[in-house]
Amino acid sequence: MEPTERRRPAADVLVIGAGVIGLAIAWRCRQRGLSVTVVDPAPGSGASRTAAGMLAPVTELHYGEQSLLALNLASAARYPSFAAELQEVTGRSIGYRRSGTVVAAWDAADLAALRDLAGFAATLGQPVQTLTGRELRALVPGIAPGLPGGLLAPEDHQVDNRRLHGALLAAVAGSGAALIDAPVARIDLAGDRVNGVTLADGTALAAGTVVLAAGAHSGRIAGLPEGARPRVHPVKGQTVRLRMAVETMPPLILRGTVKGAPVYLVPRDPDGPASGDGAAPARPGVGPARGGRSGTAELVIGASSEEAGFDCTPRAGAVYELLRDAQSLLPAVSEAELVEVSTGLRPGSPDNAPLIGRTGIDGLVVATGHYRNGVLLTPITGDGVAALLADGDLPPALDAFQPERRAPQEVR
Ligand SMILES: Cc1cc2nc3c(=O)[nH]c(=O)nc-3n(C[C@H](O)[C@H](O)[C@H](O)COP(=O)(O)OP(=O)(O)OC[C@H]3O[C@@H](n4cnc5c(N)ncnc54)[C@H](O)[C@@H]3O)c2cc1C
Repeated sequence: MEPTERRRPAADVLVIGAGVIGLAIAWRCRQRGLSVTVVDPAPGSGASRTAAGMLAPVTELHYGEQSLLALNLASAARYPSFAAELQEVTGRSIGYRRSGTVVAAWDAADLAALRDLAGFAATLGQPVQTLTGRELRALVPGIAPGLPGGLLAPEDHQVDNRRLHGALLAAVAGSGAALIDAPVARIDLAGDRVNGVTLADGTALAAGTVVLAAGAHSGRIAGLPEGARPRVHPVKGQTVRLRMAVETMPPLILRGTVKGAPVYLVPRDPDGPASGDGAAPARPGVGPARGGRSGTAELVIGASSEEAGFDCTPRAGAVYELLRDAQSLLPAVSEAELVEVSTGLRPGSPDNAPLIGRTGIDGLVVATGHYRNGVLLTPITGDGVAALLADGDLPPALDAFQPERRAPQEVR
């Protein structure tokens, strides 16, 4: 379909994708005085919905990913003010909870591996404390008996990613940006410059800059020459949401590797009015859920990881394995109410690090490939892309993550 008659007035910035990444960019661009249009047929239906919301620079640390660690830490440091600002602007809490993360060792070999990780984290200046079995049980009273120990990452926190998405959507809507519920069929080029997009119904939208932030789908949108498409691929993941009595919940994020399979359990705030958002607990492991409140709360269990193309069908085997492993760490899981199974596609990149910045095509910026840390990287990505579009330069913290990097990165 030719995008001729129906080209609408130009926005400074058109964002493709209203997941947490696209919305944070749109919000920050509006705050910098740019006019913004966001296009998405189903805002919040992607990975931003499925995610567990861990803000975990340390417990997601992999050997060789030191550059990514620096970026993750820089974004984590922005979360307190980011959460407070979103709450002030929208009146909504995003469930930012600074309760820390415990990693339980399954056996002696696992404990040795965790001690290595703790040593590695310490060389990078990260505060990590190794735990004996007794200390582990003191932090997580309901944990399975007999586990030999673990480690505590007191600075690995969480946000409720669904509340985060809802608050960002409200902030963007309230900022005067235009939100269009439709799929982008094609990115339009005039000569060698991007000048807008065409929707599936043929409507053409003009824009000074198009920001491609469509998560795992970012490489699939037509119109760009083959070599100019962002190098993202989908990595399927499932999370399971349970509801259980607050007294039986782990008071902080609980992770482990059960017979070689990683699993995490993320306790949300108790039901009812949110409490404690943004407030640090008196000590790690004593978050709002232990504040003497009764009732129930959500526990998010994750996550499977599969290369399955764009298939989002929930798979019973993956759910079985997650529940089995979670129950091995926290026996009370077997008594919980099963609320939901969610499947999403992580936007994977060749080196597991995001692709953020200008491309070889004038007028096209990409912000994708956030893989397993997109919720964590939301504040720094929003700030960075808005700075690029308003001031002309990407902040130095994002320099190593430009989309067209070809040399092997330090990160794998
Ligand atoms: C199981 C799982 C667990 C995770 N856990 C964590 C975690 O604990 N912590 C963390 O930091 N990260 C986590 N992640 C990663 C995180 O969810 C992602 O990195 C992040 O959500 C990516 O956000 P996004 O906005 O780029 O993509 P998405 O949230 O996928 O949004 C992309 C949007 O683009 C839209 N779109 C697609 N095609 C088009 C089109 N043609 N036109 C217009 N719009 C389009 C979609 O409708 C969608 O709304 C997890 C991911 C998964 C799957």
